Amino acid sequence: MIKDVLILGGGTAGFFMAASLKTHHPCLRVRVVRSPTLGIIGVGEGSTTDLLRFIHGFLRVPPAEFYRAVKPSLKLGIKFLWGKEDYHYTFTGALRQKFEPSGVPIGFACDETLADVDVHTSLMAAGKVFPRSPEGPWPLVNPTVGYHIENAELVTWLESHAAKLGIEVIDGDLASVEQAGGEIQALHLKDGQRLAADFFVDASGFRAELIGKALGTPFISYADSLFCDKAVVGGWARTTEPILPYTTAETMEAGWAWQIEHPGRINRGYVYCSQFISDADAEAEFRAKNPKVGPTRIVPFVPGRYAHQWVGNVFAVGNAAGFVEPLEATSLLCIAHECRFLTIALAEGGLKKNDSMRETTDHLCGRLWDEIRDFLAVHYRFNQRADTPFWRHCRAHVALHGAQRMVDFYRENGPTFCLEVELLAPAQSIFQLEGFWLHLVAMGVPHARTDRLTPAERQWWVSQRASNRGSAATGLTVEESLKVLHDPRWSWRPDFYKDVH
Ligand SMILES: Cc1cc2nc3c(=O)[nH]c(=O)nc-3n(C[C@H](O)[C@H](O)[C@H](O)COP(=O)(O)OP(=O)(O)OC[C@H]3O[C@@H](n4cnc5c(N)ncnc54)[C@H](O)[C@@H]3O)c2cc1C
Repeated sequence: MIKDVLILGGGTAGFFMAASLKTHHPCLRVRVVRSPTLGIIGVGEGSTTDLLRFIHGFLRVPPAEFYRAVKPSLKLGIKFLWGKEDYHYTFTGALRQKFEPSGVPIGFACDETLADVDVHTSLMAAGKVFPRSPEGPWPLVNPTVGYHIENAELVTWLESHAAKLGIEVIDGDLASVEQAGGEIQALHLKDGQRLAADFFVDASGFRAELIGKALGTPFISYADSLFCDKAVVGGWARTTEPILPYTTAETMEAGWAWQIEHPGRINRGYVYCSQFISDADAEAEFRAKNPKVGPTRIVPFVPGRYAHQWVGNVFAVGNAAGFVEPLEATSLLCIAHECRFLTIALAEGGLKKNDSMRETTDHLCGRLWDEIRDFLAVHYRFNQRADTPFWRHCRAHVALHGAQRMVDFYRENGPTFCLEVELLAPAQSIFQLEGFWLHLVAMGVPHARTDRLTPAERQWWVSQRASNRGSAATGLTVEESLKVLHDPRWSWRPDFYKDVH
């Protein structure tokens, strides 16, 4: 019976896992060991909507408390300066809309533009985040948003939340790992402490102290699909710039750059491939685009994941389990899923050793990571925006892996969902077929079925897009919406974020 869990790492992954286990298994003793010398990764982060369902649903954290402490900003999706024309990718499944009565998916009408494909896309384009409520001047708040968060503020709040839940935090650096019978028995710290436990979580970030170094789990590289291996990161204090309701992902000479919006700061970073550009040239290109940027730092990374995430009595979470660049804001998403998977697996397995639960959960985690690789690969393979050696290399050589079949199907049949259950079953997917189709449509990847719409449908579509634009025009900006959400008179419906299992 598992009674005592020791988590190595006090970053987002470690504390989210601690909170998840303690919230759902209050009987467990949960301790977090974190290094006072190594610190946390400390970058600005964008999320998807999954993170909000995880924090406010699964972890039961009241949104009002979170807004007060962490001061997130709101995003409706990602604006891509990518492909044939800039486009907005929302969390709302825009391409699932259909023409009536034919049932032809809307994507068949988007060969020229994705602008105003739904109200949320129009809101993004207008710099608005929520529509205006029909009952008054306040926003119609709905769960279609993700957060932009400063990692350091999130971790500071997580520490205080952990204390409230009765989680112990131990400051210390790992010295060695004691193993017997293929399992970890105890961690030894440099100050001489020996910390024994029944179950260990590796949340030690890129160092992967337990899953990688101690257990020697093989690493699966994603370098045949994702060529970038460094990021130069910087930002500046916001002055008069409006807070944009999205993350920006912009094509650069040898990679791409993000822009993340915090209420008081703008964070930017250029993810690049060191085989195609030097650190100095990347920094120069980054600074030329962002003259206000202050000090910068370079973060090297290795794209890929460990072949197993749950080995014996060790489960890896966050950057210790795997890493891909933040092109689709997937690390926090992975952490949320990994925390849910382990917490539920332990509950369903009665907190006992259970090989089938372990193997199946491990397989599920691997599938999650591989889908992310496949999704990002599509972005690289079909981006025609820049004609540089790096992008020519991507168009010629990026391996699509699991996305190859979807792309082949798309080329013959266009953005139809008729065989979705076989191509990418919705219940098993993060991005859904809709995500793949949206990027293929947006990047102008040709398909053979340009004949599916009648002239009347095309005409209706023009008026529908205009109507979306009109509805968005009266929406509220991020600043206006945040003001309402921080107002003590604002109250959240108790069931706003359901407890998702
Ligand atoms: C440039 C960049 C941009 C990113 N942008 C995004 C984004 O937009 N969206 C997103 O979702 N994610 C993003 N990420 C991913 C982000 O890193 C993760 O979301 C998240 O913060 C993971 O943190 P972690 O807890 O796994 O690792 P870390 O924050 O690195 O924490 C590791 C912890 O382990 C401890 N530790 C390590 N070794 C030892 C040791 N030997 N002894 C004791 N303690 C130890 C450390 O002290 C620390 O507490 C980005 C990452 C990078 C590099």
